[in-house]
Amino acid sequence: MYIHFWGVRGSLPSSLNTNDWAKHFERLMHEFFKDGHRGPEHIESFIRKKSLPYVGGYGSATTCVEVTDHNQSLIIDMGSGVKNLNDQLQQSGQLKTQTEFHVLMSHFHFDHILGIPFFSPHFMKGKTVHYYSVQPETENIVRSMFQKPTFPVTYESLPGQIQFHTLVPHEKHVINGFDVTAFQLDHPDLCYGFRVEKNNMVYAHAVDHEAIRRTPDQLGLDAGLFKNANLLYFDAQYSESDMEKHKGWGHGTCDRGFEVAYNFGVQQILFAHHDPSADLQKIWHNKEEAEQILKKQFFMLAKNPEFKWDYAFEGQIVKL
Ligand SMILES: [Zn+2]
Ligand SMILES: [Zn+2]
Repeated sequence: MYIHFWGVRGSLPSSLNTNDWAKHFERLMHEFFKDGHRGPEHIESFIRKKSLPYVGGYGSATTCVEVTDHNQSLIIDMGSGVKNLNDQLQQSGQLKTQTEFHVLMSHFHFDHILGIPFFSPHFMKGKTVHYYSVQPETENIVRSMFQKPTFPVTYESLPGQIQFHTLVPHEKHVINGFDVTAFQLDHPDLCYGFRVEKNNMVYAHAVDHEAIRRTPDQLGLDAGLFKNANLLYFDAQYSESDMEKHKGWGHGTCDRGFEVAYNFGVQQILFAHHDPSADLQKIWHNKEEAEQILKKQFFMLAKNPEFKWDYAFEGQIVKL
């Protein structure tokens, strides 16, 4: 099973502005010469030694995650990362051959639906897009994304077929060969995380989530989302110090993610839904803070050689 992160930003598509990118490249060039490199023949090895997001940033697109296994796939949420997924389907030729597309919807905040009208299969005869959600509003929401004057093509005129399916929380559903279970997250409007299982591997998707409930007792049935997950994708839009200003906004922190990982035997955690206002320095700062917190408060996790964590970046692929 492979997990493809096509969009990892939170709330609004956002990237560094032109000036900030220029400053970032200036800083990288200083590092290049400071490290003793002198010519273009060293550029490739200099870049390879850095982590990919250190050089290229964390991306600008909002939530869109794809789970694949051989020729089967599931899409989770339709943020602006759909564009990256669409491009990949096009370039690989898969857009021509694949006829059924399966989309899980966590909730309907703008950052999770804004890619819907840009998903090509809607416009292709012979294709079917299946939408799955716990909330019954999905059909109304998808219809509303294809209407004038906010979009030039109306829902009724779409050549592709669209079907809607309702999920029951805490109940396992088989979708395109994957076992999928929905669990409620801590968010201002009803929002669900998904546990996706295949070949004894577990991917747990938990954005948008404030993680007010973190212990088995507090979570009750929703604890099933996290138990022994091989990979947990967790909302860390804020740091704990930012939280005073953002309490009740429905987004979490690394500290909370580590606590959940510790309580439920999670093997790997990727933090996501990055704050649209966070520049590279802010994300690096949060990452350093998280490293200290892990060592001080969750040293059992820090000492576990099996446990891995990082901040997710756009285009990242994790094999489970
Ligand atoms: Zn969101
Ligand atoms: Zn939300």
